[in-house]
Amino acid sequence: MGFVKGLKCRECGQAYPKEPIHVCSFCFGPLEVEYDYDGIKKVLTKDIITSRATNMWRYKELLPLDGEPTVGVEAGFTPLLRAHNLAKVLGVKELYIKNDSVNHPTWSFKDRVVSVALSKAKEFGFKTVACATTGNLGNAVAAQAVQAGLESYVFMPVNLEQGKMVGTLVYGPRVIGIEGNYDGVNRLCSEIAGKYGWAFANINVRPYYAEGSKTYGHEVVEQLGWKAPKHIVVPMAGGSLILKILKAIKEFKMFGFIPDADTKLYGAQASGSAPISTAVKNGWDTIKPVKPDTIAQSIAIGNPADGYHAVKAIMESGGWAEDVTDEELVEDGIKLLASTEGIFTETAGGVTVAVAKKLIEQGRIPRDESIVISITGNGLKTQEAVLGKLEQPHKLIKASLEDFDAFMEKEGVAPSQRETEAGGVLASTKEK
Ligand SMILES: *Cc1c(COP(=O)(O)O)cnc(C)c1O
Ligand SMILES: [Zn+2]
Repeated sequence: MGFVKGLKCRECGQAYPKEPIHVCSFCFGPLEVEYDYDGIKKVLTKDIITSRATNMWRYKELLPLDGEPTVGVEAGFTPLLRAHNLAKVLGVKELYIKNDSVNHPTWSFKDRVVSVALSKAKEFGFKTVACATTGNLGNAVAAQAVQAGLESYVFMPVNLEQGKMVGTLVYGPRVIGIEGNYDGVNRLCSEIAGKYGWAFANINVRPYYAEGSKTYGHEVVEQLGWKAPKHIVVPMAGGSLILKILKAIKEFKMFGFIPDADTKLYGAQASGSAPISTAVKNGWDTIKPVKPDTIAQSIAIGNPADGYHAVKAIMESGGWAEDVTDEELVEDGIKLLASTEGIFTETAGGVTVAVAKKLIEQGRIPRDESIVISITGNGLKTQEAVLGKLEQPHKLIKASLEDFDAFMEKEGVAPSQRETEAGGVLASTKEK
């Protein structure tokens, strides 16, 4: 293993050695991992990949470690399922759900990036890892730090959903709650990262961390039978995942694993935090930061680090971006997916499904080509989004068959057995 040549500035091309750094000191551009792709091509085949264990490390040559992964080895290879019922409702022919709501160990796509970040942090010799989080990242860092035997600090806005809070606190990291939104938390963490010598997943080891997202794209292609989808809808927070899915598809094309890489990318945001989709829709090539106001907290980043590059990638692919209101993300997103496919996703997944629906209705995504909807998080973590918006339990006064029969009569449903026929059974049940 070990095909990383170094880091390279995405803007000016300046090369850097493999170090825990993330910005170019000449132009402040983001740094990207550079691989020896010729070397990888000599050793990696589709057969080798498919012969390996079903986790994200089956693509390990395309991940930025020098050795074997030491943490998060159970992450990835989540189901890609054909969504027949949702396809029917949306009026499309070939629809798939890539379901990271069942990722391990913490039920979101962040398990992928964190397993790379923490394995890399160990290679660098860090003893403490940290992150600024909108929820899922904190869950993954806290859990995997325990597995890795590292100390962890999680910085989060104090108003996060209870499920996200509990899902971090239970692992026992140091949690620092900060008034205000994620962007402020992240700014503070940038200052801390330089000062305390910790590995911040999404700051100083970000170039390595972000590479973990590629495996989401690698898996989609492999699970489609080594074929890139025609269209993929992806939730955007900082804009990294959507970029890395494109990079993954391009890598597989470069290796000759797939014939084409003409996938169109569609970015999904909540209207209350939509700096990237707003830029796409207005044809801007810069991002205007916003102050987030949405229940889709996991993707509520007002000043997205990879926003500019996400806009460029979306436009170059021939795709588009859209955003949906909080009501739409619940009704056309979370509830629609749950009631058609039996998948309970969090608010970010709700955004993605509702945006897919909108883009199909707009005619932006054609109805007769393959479409993948990216589900990245689990609904059990954001229950307050749907609480009070679901049909409530029908309360019977007591555990009484008479009460239930009366309820069913109101529903207009008759018992399948007449009372005369079932009477004996009912009587003997009653006597007990
Ligand atoms: C972090 C996150 C994303 C996307 O993040 P990017 O910063 O755009 O890579 C999407 N969905 C969920 C649930 C997330 O937690
Ligand atoms: Zn540069």
